[in-house]
Amino acid sequence: MNLLGAIEAGGTKFVCGIGTEDGKVEERVSFPTTTPAETMAKVDSFFEGKGVQAIGVGSFGPIDPVKGSATYGYITTTPKPHWSQYDIVGHLSSQFNVPIGFDTDVNGAALGEHLWGAGQGKDSCLYITVGTGIGAGIVVNGELIHGLSHPEMGHILVRRHPEDSYEGFCPYHGDCLEGLAAGPAISKRWGVPAVELSADHPAWQMEAYYLAQAIMNYILIVSPEKIIMGGGVMKQPQLFPLIHKELKNLLNGYVQHSALNDDIEQYIVSPQLGDNAGLCGALALAKMALS
Ligand code: ADP
Ligand code: ZN
Repeated sequence: MNLLGAIEAGGTKFVCGIGTEDGKVEERVSFPTTTPAETMAKVDSFFEGKGVQAIGVGSFGPIDPVKGSATYGYITTTPKPHWSQYDIVGHLSSQFNVPIGFDTDVNGAALGEHLWGAGQGKDSCLYITVGTGIGAGIVVNGELIHGLSHPEMGHILVRRHPEDSYEGFCPYHGDCLEGLAAGPAISKRWGVPAVELSADHPAWQMEAYYLAQAIMNYILIVSPEKIIMGGGVMKQPQLFPLIHKELKNLLNGYVQHSALNDDIEQYIVSPQLGDNAGLCGALALAKMALS
């Protein structure tokens, strides 16, 4: 079986791994994200001599994943020091003579869950992460969606909760979904780290109020067959039933499907690849690049 390389390029750490075309990760290393020169030197030496047939990169963004574009393969307008306009695919191509797959971390995770996780057997699935930021990727007919660039589903506008006076922290939009519902918003609104709030704290009802609106919009626009919710904030298991209930209220019976009416617990679920989701996502991008 072909060996594939995987790079989970995060804003705080890089994880590199070797895996197979059936999604098994056999070896992994992790190091902090510093400058591109220093970080990529570690990436290069990890893959040197490993004989990988393709490398997949699931990257923090924004990035340019559109083949044929002048800046294809670049991390583009990130505020992260040193990484703005960095040609990561160009660098890897100059070091390794193999196909390079490149997409956002969430698109990678969506593809990984589609191939090997909670989205298996479906033609479409949406993966959303609720962590330091909010991002989502979507597979339709087995393929990741791109257009001008990649979707930015974390920055959609939502209706404000009547009891919420927190202004939102998105530097671009203030109170977009990410600004109101990512981990830092919860911590800033309630004055304690999200992880320290008790399971019955009203924070979670408000969180579900925002996330359910986002999911309703995704359902109305693309009608995915499965929705997978990951990231640090979704480690609060009480959020799932709150989201299910809020979503049913919002949809109000408009979309008639048994997945929404009777089986909503099986429709909106946790990732199946768990802590390997990011690396498996990059592995899935490598597999895609090879085919
Ligand atoms: P990142 O988005 O940076 O990749 P995470 O998905 O772990 O990383 O998200 C980190 C955010 O999630 C932080 O804002 C943190 O407050 C929040 N978070 C992490 N773990 C939990 C938890 N168990 N419960 C609630 N919030 C959490
Ligand atoms: Zn925003």
